[in-house]
Amino acid sequence: MAVVSCQSLQEETHNDIQAMSKDQHSFAKPQKVVIKHLDLNIEVDFEKKSISGNASYDIQNNGSNEVVFDTRGLNIEGVTIGEGEQETSFELGEAREFLGSPLKVDIKENTKRVNIYYSTGKEAHALQWLNPQQTADKKHPFLFTQGQAILTRTWIPVQDSPGIRFTYNAKVKVPKELMAVMSASNPQAKNETGVYEFEMKQPIPAYLLALSVGDIVFKPVDERTGVYAEPSVIDGAVYEFADMGKMLDAAEKLYGKYQWERYDVIVLPPSFPFGGMENPRLTFATPTILAGDRSLTSLVAHELAHSWSGNLVTNATWDDFWMNEGFTVYFEKRIMEALYGEDYVDMLSVLGFQDLQGEIDDLGEESEDTHLKLNLAGRDPDDGMTNIAYEKGTLFLETIEAQVGREKFDVFLNKYFETNAFKTITTETFLEYLDNELLQPNQINMNVDEWVYGPGVPANAHAPVSERFEKVEVSINRFLANYNPSELETEGWTTHEWLHFVRNLPDNLTIDDMAKLDEAFGLTNSGNSEIAAAWFEKSINNNYEVAYPKMEEFLIKVGRRKFLVPLYKGLAKTEEGKKLAKEIYSKARTNYHAVSTNTLDALLGIES
Ligand SMILES: [Zn+2]
Repeated sequence: MAVVSCQSLQEETHNDIQAMSKDQHSFAKPQKVVIKHLDLNIEVDFEKKSISGNASYDIQNNGSNEVVFDTRGLNIEGVTIGEGEQETSFELGEAREFLGSPLKVDIKENTKRVNIYYSTGKEAHALQWLNPQQTADKKHPFLFTQGQAILTRTWIPVQDSPGIRFTYNAKVKVPKELMAVMSASNPQAKNETGVYEFEMKQPIPAYLLALSVGDIVFKPVDERTGVYAEPSVIDGAVYEFADMGKMLDAAEKLYGKYQWERYDVIVLPPSFPFGGMENPRLTFATPTILAGDRSLTSLVAHELAHSWSGNLVTNATWDDFWMNEGFTVYFEKRIMEALYGEDYVDMLSVLGFQDLQGEIDDLGEESEDTHLKLNLAGRDPDDGMTNIAYEKGTLFLETIEAQVGREKFDVFLNKYFETNAFKTITTETFLEYLDNELLQPNQINMNVDEWVYGPGVPANAHAPVSERFEKVEVSINRFLANYNPSELETEGWTTHEWLHFVRNLPDNLTIDDMAKLDEAFGLTNSGNSEIAAAWFEKSINNNYEVAYPKMEEFLIKVGRRKFLVPLYKGLAKTEEGKKLAKEIYSKARTNYHAVSTNTLDALLGIES
């Protein structure tokens, strides 16, 4: 990789940089023809469970007779070129696993516009069609999309590489009783026609194209921020996210102006496979962060932080995923620190560090998948979306910060976001930038390569400690020394303290011990999804079957992969447990998005 010439290209257009970093997960050839703007005109049909319409692209043609798009499972009905819609020939290449088929369209050297007529098929893994029973209000169906990593090509023919940015306008027709929202300028109320128009003026990569359709209402939090949700969820969500405006102010104060105008969050039905997805202007979020006490809102800070790291400065390929997530976890914690103080963030850091250690144990100490820079050639890029990118990524940045001091690190990060705004970046470009702008000027010698290209956690990691958790550990020890649970000092504990408590209970407790804790603290019946999930995991490890009916209910309702994987994995450790896991999964699978079923089918050895 010609890192040096990349540096000299920094002032030029991002296309030049794209050309340098070959994305193995896209068929597009952006150095020849690259998309610049999309006009999407589609209709959403809940009965057929299909989206159909046309995607028209303005292209930058560097003198080629062919443009290549990514598709997967789409029916391509026809392609025309130019404003006059002249018929042209096209070819859909052979389908490859994960990647789908290249759509090769014949164009002329002076072609500036390509129109693709299409409909989605059964293979549209980005889409999750929910029947009314799967929503909060149980009256209307719901649809949402999840594009990351390479699923946008399953609902729009597109050049589906994080290194390719384009603006878009969209016109979306939905059933009249429903409303559509996108990662764009959004309506705040339903209209009579069921037709909604959208504009995204800032160039974004394809994985950030997103659509939700349902019985959705909007309520503002303040002038710049607000919440979309089903009617019965909206008030709770507005209460939960009351600090969104403050988070946005804090983020701007740290790393520069917010570039996307409004910031809103939509709370989706519980099958959403992730905690949140940073679709620009409109974060998609799981309802499992609605704890009722605002204790899980670091997720909003995280998705908001992506407005800088990820959406503004974007990983060039999925091998560079840590560039999106490591920076975002770091930034998320800085926002949370500004709002809630250092001791609060110390708890987040310790929990994150536990997640990291758990991930390394799972992957194996020496696994290449524990490197920050990944090698996902020939694999589904979703395989690389582990805690390594998030938690080792932030730990690397925190370790640099500890070496240079916060003041200098913040100056560096401000400049980083400003210089690279609306560009994509490879790990190598970043390391060069880091060296030139921060390490060399401050004469710091750091084991950067060990962090980025080596396994596990290097010895100089800035390992976190939390005083509040030390108190939790005192309580655990007292319980193990046969104190009654009522004698433990748990007053004023937040979700995080409870999580630390449950996670760090031993795995050889008696049923009687588990029952005592459950009785005192109502853990099986906890309405807090984080605490409940941690407790169910502990219940599996300790054979506390009293919790199983509630766990089954949870697994059938919630589709968030982060909760599902440890529970199914825990069950699958024994023969009997695996039987139960498969039994529950057979009931729950229809409630999960493809992102979750892909992982769980593999985990449980089920043919999809
Ligand atoms: Zn993220």
